[in-house]
Amino acid sequence: MAGERIAFLGLGAIGRPMAVRVARQFPLTVWNRTRSRTDPFAAETSARVAATPADAVRDADVVMTCLSTSKDVESLLPGPDGLLAGLRPGTLFLDCTSGDPATSRRVAEQLEAHRVAFADCPVSGGTNGAEAGILTVMVGASPAVFARAKPFLQTFGKLIVHVGDIGAGDTIKAVNQVLLAANILTLGEALTAMVKAGVPARAGLEVLNASSGRSFVSESLIPARVLTGTWPNTFRLALLDKDVGIATDLVRQLDLDAPLLEQVEQHIKAAREALGEGADYLEPIKLNEARAGVEVRG
Ligand code: NDP
Repeated sequence: MAGERIAFLGLGAIGRPMAVRVARQFPLTVWNRTRSRTDPFAAETSARVAATPADAVRDADVVMTCLSTSKDVESLLPGPDGLLAGLRPGTLFLDCTSGDPATSRRVAEQLEAHRVAFADCPVSGGTNGAEAGILTVMVGASPAVFARAKPFLQTFGKLIVHVGDIGAGDTIKAVNQVLLAANILTLGEALTAMVKAGVPARAGLEVLNASSGRSFVSESLIPARVLTGTWPNTFRLALLDKDVGIATDLVRQLDLDAPLLEQVEQHIKAAREALGEGADYLEPIKLNEARAGVEVRG
């Protein structure tokens, strides 16, 4: 197992710490569209830096991608420098992008024509979880491909669940993300109201977190990032908006009625427009603070 050569493409906010963990266990080659991200990575890990996607995967037994969207992954397939030009038959392709099921299925078909097996393997747990190797990984693949993939996903994952066929990982990830977004939006409204009504933020949150209104956002994210006023940038709001769009597209494709999820979509989109492409996913709360004229600190 430890001799397998891995190629990792996409050293963004979460891809980078995932790749660091892979480099500790396997010979690793990395590629990133923006070269300035690869050189410091190589200096830290002794990974080989490839000049093109084709070059990155030429000798790889396992390829991992973690790009913004499935369409970005698809865009790397064609051309003389593209993935299909470099991939060898028998390679395992693990896409850790939070993707969309339809594009993942298209990518899988193109890879299958080159006898390359695909799994969509989105992750949850944030950049801290990636550093600690405790991500949750949701895998869409055949049972045989899942069995092959699991040991490699364990380099950065703790709970690794086979959730169905190709596209199923993307589906559950999108469902998680629309619920995350709903939590952020509702907490932004509720906590600013609470503070404006005169309840100190820390005391109010302590009660909520020992009561039935609590969530991961209220228990972990708000105390660490909002109460402290640190607002670190770990996951772009633009990517959360993309995820919410995947969930609401699915609902529409299924011809289901989901007015609350559509509200979440509208509010996240409006927040992205107001805050810009670089904003962090918790920053919609800043919009609530500005509207209420209070800060959720303490
Ligand atoms: P970033 O925006 O930090 O990084 C995006 C990465 O994708 C960069 O390496 C970027 O390259 C690359 N990329 C984007 N478009 C293209 C393209 N067209 N061609 C080639 N490379 C491209 O995102 P994250 O690392 O935060 O997220 C990556 C994925 O993981 C997303 O799907 C996200 O939703 C998901 N995710 C993120 C989490 C987080 O906490 N950050 C948590 C869980 C999932 P370049 O450096 O050149 O811009």
